[in-house]
Amino acid sequence: MRAVQMTAPHTLELVDTPVPEVGPRDVLLAVSAVGACHSDLHLLEAPAGAFPTPMTLGHEVSGRVAEVGADVTGWSAGEPAAVYGIIGCGQCRACLRGLENQCRVTPVGGIGLSRDGGLAEYVVVPASRLLKVGDLDLTQAAPLTDAGLTPYHAIELARRNLRPGGYCVVIGVGGLGHMAIQILVATTAVSIIAVDTSDEALGLATRLGAHHVVKAGPDAADEVRTIVGPAPDGADAVLDCVGVQPTVDTARSVVATGGSLMLVGLGGGTLSVQPSAGQLPVPMEVDIRMPFWGTRAELQEVLALGERGLLQADVTRFKLEEAPEAYEKLRNGEIHGRAVITP
Ligand code: NAD
Ligand code: ZN
Ligand code: ZN
Repeated sequence: MRAVQMTAPHTLELVDTPVPEVGPRDVLLAVSAVGACHSDLHLLEAPAGAFPTPMTLGHEVSGRVAEVGADVTGWSAGEPAAVYGIIGCGQCRACLRGLENQCRVTPVGGIGLSRDGGLAEYVVVPASRLLKVGDLDLTQAAPLTDAGLTPYHAIELARRNLRPGGYCVVIGVGGLGHMAIQILVATTAVSIIAVDTSDEALGLATRLGAHHVVKAGPDAADEVRTIVGPAPDGADAVLDCVGVQPTVDTARSVVATGGSLMLVGLGGGTLSVQPSAGQLPVPMEVDIRMPFWGTRAELQEVLALGERGLLQADVTRFKLEEAPEAYEKLRNGEIHGRAVITP
């Protein structure tokens, strides 16, 4: 079968590889769609040895069941499914509570991150990773599994602060950010302030229901402040879906006392926290989180929002052999919404 693999750092190749073997508890999925996540670019840029190579990328996956393992029940050939990409140990205290994204045994990883992913004609996943998608279009289901799930989880963590009439700042209206705006519209009554460097992204934010848009740059924090008011007040929650130094600085300088600061993007910025009686880099009582992906239960809820038409990825389609081009465009900021590859 054809697959798009990271064969070495900075190297993405279309290769021919055997169809993977199906273990007794596995399902072979004929891949329908795979979202191209900015994290894949971080994987490609990571030093040698940080991630396994060669590895088929793709961690936002949907498809149809092609073959089921001997011990698998509840799934039959042809059925459509979305993949929950995290494979926790299932036994630690976090996994037992359903928080596989906090597994204490298998560190940050999953399908397309620490084992072969979905950028291929077929992928093997444990049957326990499949969720039913009902009537949802499979091209939509794929981006919901990460670009939808990750901001949904972050919003869940911040929900006690997202009271009607409050403010939420979404920094970075890309794959994750454009879903974050829709989740806030569908599940809260806050005013949404979208921040991005790109005018196209800000246009998309407005179409999706953002109440204010702010162009990223040196004046962005001041502009947000004119909307949310001066410290110690501010934004009730900030979702930084970029995580580079300028966005982390904007995020910490607009969050309200007692607000939620969600560092979702993995851009490598630094946040310094300095408990002291003096000038504080982050206000008192702020919750700072580095959320990772989400839980299986949350994915089911995200798929339900999709089925109801309340959450829809703005999709640009690519064929499997066009995957390198899709990632190049993502790197250059030329993708708005989500690029979805349809093997
Ligand atoms: P994306 O490329 O689709 O979107 C990024 C957006 O940020 C674009 O609209 C871009 O214009 C904007 N942007 C870039 N620099 C900016 C700046 N300085 N100020 C404001 N906006 C800026 O990326 P994505 O797929 O949405 O991923 C976003 C980040 O989230 C990546 O770092 C990715 O690795 C990370 N991520 C984290 C998790 C997690 O579990 N924590 C999950 C998925 C992705
Ligand atoms: Zn991702
Ligand atoms: Zn575990």
